[in-house]
Amino acid sequence: MSTLTSVERDTAIFDLINKEKYRQESGIELIASENFTSKQVMEAAGSVLTNKYAEGLPGKRYYGGCEVVDEIEQIAIDRLKELFGATWANVQPHSGAQANTAVFLACLNPGDTIMGFNLAHGGHLTHGSPVNISGKYFRPVFYGVEAETGLINWDKVEETAVREKPKLLICGASAYSRDWDYERLRAIADQVGALLMADIAHPAGLIAKGLLKDPFDYCHIVTTTTHKTLRGPRGGVIMMRNDFENPFGIKTPKGQTRLMSSLLDSGVFPGTQGGPLEHIIAAKAIAFGEALSEGYYNYATQVAKNAQAMAKAFTEKGYRIISGGTDNHLMLIDLRTKNGIDSGLTGKLAENTLIKADITINKNMVPFDDKSPMVTSGIRVGTAAMTSRGLIESDMARIVDLVDTVLINHDNDSKIAGIKGEVNNWMKEFPLY
Ligand SMILES: *Cc1c(COP(=O)(O)O)cnc(C)c1O
Repeated sequence: MSTLTSVERDTAIFDLINKEKYRQESGIELIASENFTSKQVMEAAGSVLTNKYAEGLPGKRYYGGCEVVDEIEQIAIDRLKELFGATWANVQPHSGAQANTAVFLACLNPGDTIMGFNLAHGGHLTHGSPVNISGKYFRPVFYGVEAETGLINWDKVEETAVREKPKLLICGASAYSRDWDYERLRAIADQVGALLMADIAHPAGLIAKGLLKDPFDYCHIVTTTTHKTLRGPRGGVIMMRNDFENPFGIKTPKGQTRLMSSLLDSGVFPGTQGGPLEHIIAAKAIAFGEALSEGYYNYATQVAKNAQAMAKAFTEKGYRIISGGTDNHLMLIDLRTKNGIDSGLTGKLAENTLIKADITINKNMVPFDDKSPMVTSGIRVGTAAMTSRGLIESDMARIVDLVDTVLINHDNDSKIAGIKGEVNNWMKEFPLY
């Protein structure tokens, strides 16, 4: 008999998993980077595939016994390529951060200049933060939004690029609610001899369904997470529509020029990772299959409609949305003023108060914020998770009503307890699993 049959059930952990399940089911989830996966995605993520080592790529592994995982990983690659109209993909990055690091390793030498969207304006840590490898091993420079409009000024992006001569220009963000001018960015990249990378971690699902501009014809390399709007397991991927010879003269040991695809594959393994997580790759394959369906198109469309409805409701209550609205699934709200009057609110106060009513959001810096990252002047909210639960436009207005009531009554604990009860009861109408 297997020694595993006598393993004792770990009730300490499973009790906590059940507690977390209850938390997710009973509250309103507005964190823009979160979503709920299907049951079959979680089933694959918790499968026997976790037992398998498979360093290398399908058909070219360093371990035996990979026939089955080869088929699974190839399906993941093929479905992902179909979903985005890509011709090459690597589905092994353990996360979005890992995908980006692998690209940097493949394209850059230490000390090279990278140019990304300002972290304080909604950019991501992996695009040049001093505490991340991207800012420690490379020279980061940034572009941002205009104070008056909250929008990126493409002329200023060009000015900065011409002055700083980055080798890699990065577009994409964690808290920018508008679409990107990939065509203009490619012209800028070409002008200064940079590669252009799009990190579509947040809006990937909307891009896949044609609800936002398609970066693939203009961006040399595209990375994304798989767990935000894409609604898969936690993870990352790297893609290209057009492979090309690496522009930096890196040769194989035999003196041949290497294609970017080959450099990127090596950037993932052995460059920055060891064995791939085949259980997660199987879950990715399932999520990509789901994303190819008509049902997911309807989902993505509803995510965008819900974001429009939510932005409208916040605006009508007097809240200031950065850039005045949204093109995607999220928005950034500057809480400092409401109806033009000082509100006394901070992002920290809002986050800590809303959680008492089981409404989860995250505090977020707003562009030109005068407060620290631990306090912040804003919050970021998104509609991907609640749309997965089945909520529609009219529900967004009700959510905003609840958020507003909690914020107005932030020092009234009994009022907030009442809202929490309402939230918990309401969410019973939308069973998750
Ligand atoms: C979320 C995010 C990532 C990182 O994803 P992880 O899976 O948390 O590593 C990278 N880039 C952007 C723009 C993101 O929003």
